[in-house]
Amino acid sequence: MEPPVPETGPRDLLLEVQRVGVCGTDRDIVAGLYGDAPEDADYLVLGHESLSRVAKVGKRVRGFKEGDLVVPTVRRNCHENCLNCRNGESDMCLTGHYREHGIKGLHGFASEFAVSDSGFVVKLPESLVDVGILLEPLTVVEKGITQTFLMQKARMKWKPTNALVLGAGPVGLLATGLLRLKGLDVSAVATRPKASLKATLVERTGAYYINAKETPLANLEDKYDVVFEVTGSTSVALEAQRLIRANGIVAFLGIYKYQELTEDAGRLFTDLVLGNRVYFGSVNANLTYFRQGVEDLLRIRKQWAGFLEKIITRTARFDRLDEAYGPENEEEIKTIIEFK
Ligand SMILES: [Zn+2]
Repeated sequence: MEPPVPETGPRDLLLEVQRVGVCGTDRDIVAGLYGDAPEDADYLVLGHESLSRVAKVGKRVRGFKEGDLVVPTVRRNCHENCLNCRNGESDMCLTGHYREHGIKGLHGFASEFAVSDSGFVVKLPESLVDVGILLEPLTVVEKGITQTFLMQKARMKWKPTNALVLGAGPVGLLATGLLRLKGLDVSAVATRPKASLKATLVERTGAYYINAKETPLANLEDKYDVVFEVTGSTSVALEAQRLIRANGIVAFLGIYKYQELTEDAGRLFTDLVLGNRVYFGSVNANLTYFRQGVEDLLRIRKQWAGFLEKIITRTARFDRLDEAYGPENEEEIKTIIEFK
């Protein structure tokens, strides 16, 4: 089914979609775990990671013109326009009644044409046409890292030296790259062998690759200033809090399966208190992180040529969605759908 070309309001941009990225959230929606259609529709167009060109500019829009290379953010303000939504921080929405393109109450971008409020769109330089599709996953990392540094620097003198990234999918690899750009010694953990593409890309940034099948996480206890948990594994998440040293911080970026695990909760909270540790969760990203992400895509590419390109391991045509959303092989990192 081909959705109709959407109507464009005075503050909207009509987008001619170039590419859409596929991630775990999309697969969960396809599996029926979550996802809400817009109020006036009985289906939801997928696709929250996207790269488009502006096809039409609404009457009251300034700063965009036809042909601009752009990426829209995912989340839109809640109907109540809460304190944070009102202040450009819909990623921190208080009510939970926000809408998200391709996920919750708004169509996504996986169609030939899509529409977005121009106030939630960032422009990209032409030089990022090949890798701009990675901007949305990068923004999740931008927010996690920015908030990590803000919190830590607000509560003490903080000079971190190292970081551990749990997971080496697109988000894990982008986190590895950004934390390396921050000047930290970074290790990244996954379950693929040393000769795998994931391991090669980790090492490309000067980070150290750890194969969890050879090195149990327990060997890494009490070693890191910063841990980024992006595997989405409940048991790994539980382990993550043991891996930071005193004053350390763990950022959780995954969606975890509800699961009861046997764990000494008393030890967990005592370690938290006696070590002045911080565990926090972070989801989504607002326009500030998208703007920051554009700068960092340029920096990452300048630093490690080919790194971003190699994260995109599969390109499916829009008329072969079975390929795009089908099972991935072990070397798969990021699948994208090409519309042009
Ligand atoms: Zn809100």
